[in-house]
Order: sequence, then structure tokens, then C-alpha cells
Amino acid sequence: MKTVLIENAYIAPVAGPEIPSGFVHIEGDKIVALGAGPAPAIPGATRIDGTGCLATPGLVNTHHHLYQWASQGLAQDATLFEWLVALYQVWAAMDAEVVKGAAGAGLGFLALSGCTTSSDHHYVFPKGRGDLFAAEIEAARELGIRFHPVRGSMDRGKSKGGLPPDVVVEKHEEILAESAKAVDTYHDASFSSKLRVAIGPCSPFSVSAELMVEAAELARAKGVRLHTHLAETLDEEEHLLEQVGMRPVDYMEKLGWLGPDVWFAHAIHLSDADIDVFAQTGTGSAHCPSSNGRLGAGIARVSEMLNRGAIVGLGVDGNASSELTTLSGEMRQAMLFQRARYGPTALTARQALEMATLGGAKNLGRDAELGTLEPGKLADIALWRTDGAFASAITDPVATLVFATAQPPLARLLVGGETIVENDELRTVSQDALGRAGGQAHRRLLRLAEEQGFTAAKEVHS
Ligand SMILES: [Zn+2]
Repeated sequence: MKTVLIENAYIAPVAGPEIPSGFVHIEGDKIVALGAGPAPAIPGATRIDGTGCLATPGLVNTHHHLYQWASQGLAQDATLFEWLVALYQVWAAMDAEVVKGAAGAGLGFLALSGCTTSSDHHYVFPKGRGDLFAAEIEAARELGIRFHPVRGSMDRGKSKGGLPPDVVVEKHEEILAESAKAVDTYHDASFSSKLRVAIGPCSPFSVSAELMVEAAELARAKGVRLHTHLAETLDEEEHLLEQVGMRPVDYMEKLGWLGPDVWFAHAIHLSDADIDVFAQTGTGSAHCPSSNGRLGAGIARVSEMLNRGAIVGLGVDGNASSELTTLSGEMRQAMLFQRARYGPTALTARQALEMATLGGAKNLGRDAELGTLEPGKLADIALWRTDGAFASAITDPVATLVFATAQPPLARLLVGGETIVENDELRTVSQDALGRAGGQAHRRLLRLAEEQGFTAAKEVHS
């Protein structure tokens, strides 16, 4: 078994006290020990010098739409519903090649911001465009990141009172069969798993009540998690009050969508009672502050949720609504949003780090394996260089990581003890090739969309 020793680092394990100068001992894909002082002498071990570096758990991203790498920069000043209506037509043209290029670039970009585990919520499956779910899984495998793709879906198009055009929705029976197939084909429930599948109808305004109920039954029968968008905007709340006479969280309760196996994206417009229900049921949320800011959706009540014991992780959300947002930067954005709303004690840098690591692991049901640096857990570790020329005027490494606009250099990123990033460069794949493929995916998607007669790209720029 391969032995790796990180030594001389400032260690912020998230669980337990911080270690100003210490080591992490890795055997195979797991942490076996960490502590203060020099690393043990182990013949044949790979030694990583962490002098001047901060070691944290790898960051966990709990909400994304990787395909949106290919549709960045469009509908820049729109509300969520306006943005969706503009972009559904573009997304209808995507194929497996677009998804592969977009997912590769999106995941590579995430890894460079310290992310070792990412979920992805893919919910647009236009007919005859290849195996889109397989394409993103392939991209994650090539990079070596831990991946939790969510088989999403929409079955309530415009003709049934939903928001999306009928061309991007699937039939109810097809969705359940494809969701079951995705789990059977790919889901790996093992401790060291790098691939776990969840089931996630898209949102209350694009999915029927029947599908929500049956998707929950299917996920529970198969022992996988449930994910969807909830309470992102007041438009959604109005839509639901009009269509089903209920607010979002009440509606989820009726559909059987609360519990420790569920995490929602956004959860911005919650009442006091909703927050208590989340805390009592163990329902998680993915806070995506940059996307929420970009779409003017609102500021989630994160510090109140944490104070009342609700689970909150972070998400960058799709690049079409967050653009080039780093996961490390979301810690800062989350902290600033809470302070702007509640004052300077609302969220500390260490709470932001905990949300980005342990909070995310809890959302994904992986807190036994991920989210902290502890013996027995998987060796998913980010090593941030905090002694750079301009960082030398600050002595708290965690503050350097969370308060600064500029991300500190990423000296190493380990997933299960394997190096994915070294000195800000991807090591498992060609960074240049990945970036180029992402740009090609963008151009290909816009060309396919125009060929199909959908809204031309130039029209959705405004
Ligand atoms: Zn989303």
C-alpha cells in the first residue's frame, strides 16, 4: 500500500483543534494518523513538504449543472424564470459531446479551487443526443475527482402548466426507468466510492407531483439520495401557491421530500417554521451565494439555519448563473452575504470552511468518509500555500483562505491520496486540452441551437 506523508503544515482538520505545525499520514486512500510535530520516519513513503501551507479537508461541492459551462454569459440581467425561459431553448440542442467538454472543463476548474468531491444535477435530456449522463461520468473519471451525479428530470412542460417548453421535458415512465438504470449502472455504495448516483427531478415548477412522489419511492427503494431545487425565488413561491395552494416546504412535506436523505439547492425563502422542519428532519441545503446574487434571488438565512442545527453545505451552481465561480470563493461570498444581512459575527471564516467541507459531506451522506481530516477518513486533502509574497502580512492561514478575494495557490489536491492538482496545475489530465474542450463545447452548443432554429445566442445576450 502506498504511504504519503504531508509534513510541516498548518492543519485545520475542521473536527478537533487546529495544529500549527504537523503531519498527515496516509496509507492507500485513507488517513491513518495526524498530529503535531515532525512526520514519522517511514521508509519508502512519499513525503510532501507542507511548509508555509494550510492543510484542509478537500472542498465538497453540493450543487452544480456542469453542462452549463457551455452556456455561460447569456441572459446576463434576467430573473431566474426569464433566464430559464431563454436558456431552455439553447440547452435543448446539447449533445454528449457538449456535455463531455463542458463537464471536463467545469470539474477541472472546480479541482483547481480545492474541490475533491462534486455533485452534479443534470436534468435536461433532449431526445437522440447521445448518453449525456455517461458523458459527464466519463469526464469525472478521467480527472479522478469524487463524483455524485444526480439523474435529474422534467416532466411538466408548458402544456401542463410548467415553465419549460415541451421539447425539453421527458415522459414520466421514461424518467423513472432511466433514473433506475442510472443507479443500477453506476452507483457504488462502498466506503471509498468515487461515484454515487442520486435522483433529482428538477424543481417544483418543472416537475409533476406524481413524479416527485415516485422518484422519492424509487430512490428509497434503491438506497440513494434525493436532490432538487427549492425556495430559490419568490416567483417559485407564487407559482406554487397558485398551482397547488402551498408554499415550497409544505409542498415538499406533502410529497414525502423531507428527511436525512434529501438535500435541496438554494432554500432561500424559508420561514422560521421551515428552518425548524429542516433541522428536525435532517434535511440538507446547498447554499449557492454567487448564483443567488447573480440572479437577484435573495440571501439564504444560513446563519440562522446553522444556529438552529440545520445542515448547510455550499454549491457553485451551474456556470450559466454563476459564471467562473470558484468553490473556494463561495466560502467568502457566503460569509460576506451573512454579514451583510446579520452583522459581522454572523458567520466566521471557520464556519464557512466547515460548510464547504463537513456541511457538504453531510449533504451527500458522506460525513463518515469525508469532510474532516481524521484517522479512518478518506485522504481528500487540499494544501493551500499561505506564505506567498502578499499573504505574508496575515498570520491566520484560515483567514488567508476565506477572507481573501484571490485564492491562495493550491500546492496540492489529493483525492484518496492521489495527486489531482500540484502547484495550480491539473496532473491527471491536460489542463490546456480541458480548457480548450470547454470552449469548443460552448461554440458547438450555440451552433447546434441556431441550427435547430432556437433563439439565437445574440438574442439571449440582453
Ligand atoms: Zn441549480
